[in-house]
Amino acid sequence: MGIRTGNEYIESLRDGRTIYVNGDRVKDVTAYPPFRGIVATLASLYDLQHSRRAQLTYPSPKTGHPVSASFMMAATPEEVAARVRAEEMRADHTFGLMGRLPDFCNALVTDFATASSYIGRKEPRYGDNIVRYYEDCRENDWCLTHTLVDPQIDRSKGPAEQPDPFAVLRVVRETDRGVIVRGAKMLSTLAPFANEMWVGPFYPRRPGEEAYTLCFAMPMDSPGMKFICREPFDAGRGTFDRPLSSRFDEEDALAIFDNVEVPYDRIFINGDIETFNGVMQQRIRGYTLLQAVIRGMVKLRFMAGLACHVAEAIGRTEAIHVQAQLGELIANAELVGGLVRAAAQEVTLGATQNMPNRALAATLWVMIPQCQMRAAEVIRQLSGSGMIMTPTEKDFANPEIAAYLEKYLQGKDIVARDRVQLFKLAWDMIGEPFGSRQLQYEWFYAGDPYFTRSRFYRSPIAGEFKKMVTRLLDGAGT
Ligand SMILES: Cc1cc2nc3c(=O)[nH]c(=O)nc-3n(C[C@H](O)[C@H](O)[C@H](O)COP(=O)(O)OP(=O)(O)OC[C@H]3O[C@@H](n4cnc5c(N)ncnc54)[C@H](O)[C@@H]3O)c2cc1C
Repeated sequence: MGIRTGNEYIESLRDGRTIYVNGDRVKDVTAYPPFRGIVATLASLYDLQHSRRAQLTYPSPKTGHPVSASFMMAATPEEVAARVRAEEMRADHTFGLMGRLPDFCNALVTDFATASSYIGRKEPRYGDNIVRYYEDCRENDWCLTHTLVDPQIDRSKGPAEQPDPFAVLRVVRETDRGVIVRGAKMLSTLAPFANEMWVGPFYPRRPGEEAYTLCFAMPMDSPGMKFICREPFDAGRGTFDRPLSSRFDEEDALAIFDNVEVPYDRIFINGDIETFNGVMQQRIRGYTLLQAVIRGMVKLRFMAGLACHVAEAIGRTEAIHVQAQLGELIANAELVGGLVRAAAQEVTLGATQNMPNRALAATLWVMIPQCQMRAAEVIRQLSGSGMIMTPTEKDFANPEIAAYLEKYLQGKDIVARDRVQLFKLAWDMIGEPFGSRQLQYEWFYAGDPYFTRSRFYRSPIAGEFKKMVTRLLDGAGT
C-alpha cells in the first residue's frame, strides 16, 4: 500500500474504537467537533507525504512503493541525513507543537526492529514478530500511539504491590491464541487519532514483576480496549482566538485494557525482564531519540521567533536585557541544532556503549526540557499585560468598539488586530490549557527528568570523568 492520503487516514479512524470524552462515548472521532482541528492537521501531514514525496518518502525495500522516511533503517550518513531532513520538515509543518507526530512511534518501531536479534535471542519468534510488525506499520502507513508508564496510583510501591494488583496492565492468563491482559497505562497521547497502540518498556522492571513485563501492539478498535480522554482544549473558539488549541491539541488518554486478548504474533516481550530492561538502554539505533530532539529543536525555533515578535510588537527591543533574553532563546535553538547534527552522527555509528547515544540522550533529557521552560518564561516576562488584554474576534467585529481597539491596542509598526492575534498566540502557547499542558509535557516528555538525568550518573560516563580526578590526585599529567 505505502503512504496514505489524508482522506485515507481519516477514513481509517472510523473503526468503532471505544473513546470516552467528558462522560460520553464518541462514536466517530473524525466528526466530533473538538477533534476536527487536530484530525485535519494530522491528515495534512499524510497529504504532505504526497506533495513532498521526494523529501518525505523512500522506496519500500519490500514493494518499491513510497513509504514514510520515518521508517527508514538509516545506517549511512546520507540515509541518516535524509531522515533528519524529513523529520525536520514534518515537525516544521506543525511548528514543533506536536510531541507525538506519527513520526515518533514510526521511529520507535523502527528502533525496535533494528534490535530484533536482541529481542529474539531467547525466543526467536519475538524477534520475527517485531520485524513483521515494523514492516506492517511501514507498508500500511499506520499511525501509532504508545503508552509506556504505569498509572501513578502509589509510586512508593511496584505494580505487584499496589492495593489492586490488576490495576497496572499485566498478563492475566494465556490462551491457545495469545495472552489475556488487564489493567491500565498512562498516558497515551494521540490515542483517539491512532490506528495502533504500542505498549512497551520504559521504567525498568524488577524480579517478581514478570506479569507486568510486556511489549506488544494492538489495533485501536480491539475488543476490551477503552480510552478515557482528558478534556479537549478546542472549545470551538476558532483560529483567531485560539490559534493553537484549535489545530494542535493532540489529546491524551488513560488507556484501559479490559481483558484484551493479544495474539502471540503481536507480542514482542513477555515476562523477560532482562530484555525489557535492556532493549531501550543499549540495543536500539536511536531513531526515536533523534526524532524527539528534532521536534524539540523546531519548537525552540518557533518559541524564539514568537518571543522576538512579541518584543518587537511593543517596541521593547532597544533594551539590552531584552536583546539578551531573545538572543539566549535563539542561541538555545542553535545549540540544540548543533546537537542534532552530533546526534545524527551517533545514530550513524549506532549505540554501542552501555548507554543510549550520549549526545542524543543529553539533548533530549537535559537540554530540551530546560530550554523549553526558559523559552516560556522569557515570553511571559517580555509580554507584560499585552498577553492578557486580547479582545476577541467578535470584539473587533463590533463597530461600537472596534475603533477604540484599533487605536489603543495597536503596537509598534503593527495594527491592533495583528498585535492582538500575536499576543493571543503567545497566550495560547503558555497560558491557556493548551500552553500549560505543553509545559507539563515538555518537562515529562522523555520521562521524569530526574530519573533520566540520574541515568547519566549511573552510566560508565561518570566513571570516565571520575578517572580524570583520580589521575590528578595520583600526580599524573603534571
Ligand atoms: C502531557 C503528557 C503527555 C504524555 N504522553 C505520554 C504518552 O503518549 N505515552 C507515554 O507512555 N507516556 C506519556 N506521558 C507520561 C510520561 O511519560 C510521564 O509523565 C513521565 O514518565 C513521568 O511519570 P509520571 O507522570 O508517572 O510521574 P512520576 O514518575 O510519578 O513523577 C512525579 C514526581 O515524582 C518525582 N519522583 C520520581 N521518582 C521519585 C522517587 N524515587 N522519589 C521521590 N520522588 C520521585 C518526580 O521527579 C516527579 O517530580 C505523558 C505525560 C504528560 C504530562
